[in-house]
Amino acid sequence: MRRNIVAGNWKMNKNFAEADDLINSIEETLRQYDTTDVDIIVCPPFPFLELVSDVSEDANFFVGAQNVAKFDNGAYTGEISASMLKSMAVDYCIVGHSERRKYFFETNQDVAQKIDLLLKEDITPIMCVGESLEERESNKHFEVIRKQVEEGIFHLRAEDMQRCIIAYEPVWAIGTGKTATKEQAQEIHAFIRQLIREKYNDDVAQEVSILYGGSCNPKNASELFSMEDVDGGLIGGASLKAKDFIEIACSF
Ligand code: PEP
Repeated sequence: MRRNIVAGNWKMNKNFAEADDLINSIEETLRQYDTTDVDIIVCPPFPFLELVSDVSEDANFFVGAQNVAKFDNGAYTGEISASMLKSMAVDYCIVGHSERRKYFFETNQDVAQKIDLLLKEDITPIMCVGESLEERESNKHFEVIRKQVEEGIFHLRAEDMQRCIIAYEPVWAIGTGKTATKEQAQEIHAFIRQLIREKYNDDVAQEVSILYGGSCNPKNASELFSMEDVDGGLIGGASLKAKDFIEIACSF
């Protein structure tokens, strides 16, 4: 059955000392809350994975990466492989974030390759999809999301599909302070779940958690998470403040 999940994407923020402060403050804050109904994932930049995974050993959260190479191992200077992540106790990895699609030209085919490599290492992919403002205004959002889902993840067999997480992140809501309404989020989440149902079956559709991302904060999280097909959130800016992040995680 799909789980409630809140994942924090630190993006390219913090130096080592600041990352140390933040993760320790997340760990301390977590001790004051009951988070048994939610899986919390922290996705720091690569250099801080070990730091975060050390703290996670005695705390109630999992470690995720923000990206992975689309190749196995070898002569790919500057890249980080799925097997390297696995060896650092990473259990989740974001793929296809809109910033990677925009600034690093990541395609749906790249996303598909990355998902395969992650699953081979038993790392759960968090695949991001979402439309731009222009695409929404020209009423192309369903078409765009259908293509991202079909090309990025629908090559998987049912048993692998149900190991994945999808995050719906409208690009116009990321880092803008402009959140999707709960109805807009629900509409797209239900659409994605229906695509999974049609491609696989209802059992698979009920196993896949679908997260909302885009200016989610402690004030709007509970109304978004109250929607039938919204299983949690992928949090950017608000994940950089321990209290805000944990309050969001406790918004179910
Ligand atoms: C994100 O980058 O995944 C994100 C949702 O960012 P923010 O919460 O800052 O909009």
